[in-house]
Amino acid sequence: MTQPVVLWFRRDLRLADQQALAAAVVSGAPVIPVYILDDESPKHRKMGEASRWWLHHSLVSLDADLQVLGSRLILRRGKSDAVLSRLVEETGAAAIHCIRHYEPYWRNAEKAVAKALPDGCDLKCHDGNYLLPPGSVTTGSGGQYKIYTAFMRALWQHMPPAQPLPSPAKLALPVYWPASDALSDWDLLPVKPDWSGGMQQMWTPGEHGAKARLDAFTDKAKSYDERRNLPSVDGSSFLSPHLHFGEISAATCWHATMSAGGSVDVFLKELVWRDYAQNVICQFPEYGSKNAREGFDKMPWRDLADPAVKADYTAWTKGQTGYPIVDAGMRQLWATGWMHNRVRMIAASFLIKHLLIDWRAGEQWFWDTLVDADYGSNAVNWQWTAGTGVDSNMFVRIMAPLSQSEKFDASGYIRQWVPELSDLREPYIHDPEEHGARPKGYPRKLIGHKQARERALAAFAVTKG
Ligand code: FAD
Repeated sequence: MTQPVVLWFRRDLRLADQQALAAAVVSGAPVIPVYILDDESPKHRKMGEASRWWLHHSLVSLDADLQVLGSRLILRRGKSDAVLSRLVEETGAAAIHCIRHYEPYWRNAEKAVAKALPDGCDLKCHDGNYLLPPGSVTTGSGGQYKIYTAFMRALWQHMPPAQPLPSPAKLALPVYWPASDALSDWDLLPVKPDWSGGMQQMWTPGEHGAKARLDAFTDKAKSYDERRNLPSVDGSSFLSPHLHFGEISAATCWHATMSAGGSVDVFLKELVWRDYAQNVICQFPEYGSKNAREGFDKMPWRDLADPAVKADYTAWTKGQTGYPIVDAGMRQLWATGWMHNRVRMIAASFLIKHLLIDWRAGEQWFWDTLVDADYGSNAVNWQWTAGTGVDSNMFVRIMAPLSQSEKFDASGYIRQWVPELSDLREPYIHDPEEHGARPKGYPRKLIGHKQARERALAAFAVTKG
């Protein structure tokens, strides 16, 4: 009897351009696909609630696609090394194939799995979730890049990425199927209250949903550069959760966009940001919790244990700051699990600089509420905004939310997400309080821009001292 191999799915929930699946198929062995819900490996970052909602639907979709091939997805829960070594004992598997992941907790889990497997069974890790394997783009002297622009130029020399692999036409099936958990027992979906209505409307998790998003985007990719910064129009690709869960590969997105023709470099450079973030967390595994610039360890952030500060933080999370663009973004995030990139920058900057609250509190909120919450991308962008990162905006560059709102023509976006303001015309809608047009039921600003700026700069001076 041919020994089977295990295909260990994680954030790579697709059949096309899935390098671990392709290697398993080439081996000729029967394939046992498995997904493990691991909240237990040491220091594992438990997935946020919005991500868990996405995961549920993505696993349903993956299982359905495997069933078309006569296969199925085995579900298990627990510490990856313990679960996989038990599965190998049960099935007599000769190898485990997986796509390599670069979050520090996944790297640790991979080491633990390799150590725990019985003799005769190897862990075979493949690359495939990024344009190039993180860590592989090096400087002339063999070092790692810290600055995005230099990294991007170096990576660009190796582009385009390899042509995507097709989905397999068939899979060799095992004689014996190991037992699987029932997905419904994992309680990944919210109940009482079920807050997922807006997410259900906006998203179709899974490989087919990803493909549909990409197809829709390639038609408008040429206008990406003009439209991506305008929150009132759908100018970006909406691929981030699909890319995060690996329902589509970055190489597939690259090639599809290139073949759409026209000037698409600006979009492709955004895909490079995703690779860059992984390169940063490879060098600084604690990037999600530690200032890269240590001077910021002395920053006198306002203390969240103080009820007044906590109230400001809560107002930010609920979109009740009195700054329409910030409130629209935070409400979009809560309703759909996604926020426009420009507005993410404005909302993050507002928390850090206007409210003087530690970026890590915001990073955690995004982690819990974004459907694309990604350890590397989230940490890199929060540290970029805070000025604490290896490559970052200077702290003293304080974004003015009200002028950003006008500059990027956010009135349609505000009307959509802050209905209390939907009757206001330009320019009142961007700053109703200033124009004496604040409707009842819409809050006053938590703090004025000038006062916030002065407080932030004074706090920053402490880090210099
Ligand atoms: P598009 O503009 O169509 O870009 C295409 C793809 O490129 C995206 O899907 C994404 O995979 C990648 N990309 C684009 N911009 C960035 C970027 N700045 N950094 C890394 N990758 C990028 N993105 C996440 O995927 N996960 C996160 O947890 C995340 N947290 C963020 C936190 C803050 C404070 C900020 C300012 C940005 C964050 N981003 C994060 C980056 C960016 O906002 C989203 O990737 C983008 O808005 C997703 O929308 P889209 O797919 O339409 O992007």
